[in-house]
Amino acid sequence: MITLARLLLLLLLFLVLFLSSSASKAASAVSQDEDSSSASSIISRFRQYLQINTAQPKPNYHEAADFLISQANSLSLESQVLEFVQGKPLVLLKWPGKKPALPSILLNSHTDVVPSEHHKWAHPPFDAHLDSATGNIYARGSQDMKCVGMQYLEAIRKLKASPSFRQPLRTVYLSFVPDEEIGGHPGAEMFAHSEVFQKMNVGVVLDEGLASPDDFYRVFYAERSPMWLVIKATGPPGHGAKLYDNSAMENLLKSIESIRRFRAAQFDLVKSGSRAEGEVISVNMAFLKAGTPSPTGFVMNLQPSEAQAGFDIRVPPAADHLSLEIRIAEEWAPSSRNMTFELGQFKQKASVYDKFGKPMLTAHDGSNPWWGLLEEAIKNANGKVGKPEIFPASTDARYFREQGLPAIGFSPMANTPILLHDHNEFLNKDEYLKGIDAYESIIKAFASFDERTSDDESKAEL
Ligand SMILES: [Zn+2]
Repeated sequence: MITLARLLLLLLLFLVLFLSSSASKAASAVSQDEDSSSASSIISRFRQYLQINTAQPKPNYHEAADFLISQANSLSLESQVLEFVQGKPLVLLKWPGKKPALPSILLNSHTDVVPSEHHKWAHPPFDAHLDSATGNIYARGSQDMKCVGMQYLEAIRKLKASPSFRQPLRTVYLSFVPDEEIGGHPGAEMFAHSEVFQKMNVGVVLDEGLASPDDFYRVFYAERSPMWLVIKATGPPGHGAKLYDNSAMENLLKSIESIRRFRAAQFDLVKSGSRAEGEVISVNMAFLKAGTPSPTGFVMNLQPSEAQAGFDIRVPPAADHLSLEIRIAEEWAPSSRNMTFELGQFKQKASVYDKFGKPMLTAHDGSNPWWGLLEEAIKNANGKVGKPEIFPASTDARYFREQGLPAIGFSPMANTPILLHDHNEFLNKDEYLKGIDAYESIIKAFASFDERTSDDESKAEL
């Protein structure tokens, strides 16, 4: 028979056991919290995102979307998935601000990556191998641009944990868009034209930049617009031994010589240091198509009646487009030499003006408070900022600039070789962590900015 004393003793024992177990549960919750903000968990989340194969032409978008939404849930961000084109999800996250009437901040990144030639990589491109000696993380997308997408989230994680911040004044949105690498039409372009976007009342956009081999970060205020040119020459066919004028090959070669001289002159401006890469018109031959095929190659004793060449041309916003088109019509593909031209088989001749007819440039002086805030915020995070640049290729930022919005291209990667679209693309883990600090500082500055900018006012008037 159990005596009262023994019963009390048993109860006491239960109580002690219960208290100690709940204490240990609380302790483990704390350590998990500490864990999620530790450098190793930050790196492991980055690697998890890199391991999702979102390479074109068959990106695994749904796995990426699921991953991003699980991240958003862990940060208590609102999330929604938009599909402007079926099978191409755009993940939109929202961190509501205390003053939702103020224009919002949009942090954009794309989820797709370019394909890779696996056998030319030292480590498989979707292993996200972390080299223990150097700290380099090898993966397709490590620079372009899964780093940025995850850095936005990690910066928000830090801000949410910081007692001095916790909640932004302005609403902060994060968009993870599909298909940037193939033109961005079902992604950023349709998004920027959507009603959802209108309602977001965006005031400024951050999008991708480029790595910098130097110790400063690169920042971009505009980009060159692509112009894909195909020129075609026709002429009388003839025996391979005969010399005659106006053959298709001869006419095409004259054009190629002229284009090559133009290219060299533009390139000289870059080589001499008088212009940055983004400030000149680049021309590169993408294909040459001519000849009469035979079972073993080409017929050699025949001069063909048709020949074609294709060029990727990139034009900076301040360039004289009209004179370039006159040059194409008069020098590069003149009808007097039996030549025709088309501007791109994809009609890839993007406008250089926004919807208000202004050149697609984001002001990078005192007239744009966001620019100053960005530079200041980077400095506060112990980063250095380079001279504002024009992005040499195209990014989704153009769709936002087209809407008349300021958009800044920035991927915080200093001391890093430019390896986007290259074999063995990598980002060093310390550089990645520093980038999170830069975004923490930028998001804090942008989201706390309590004034209406002149852009906000002109938007309100429209
Ligand atoms: Zn990119």
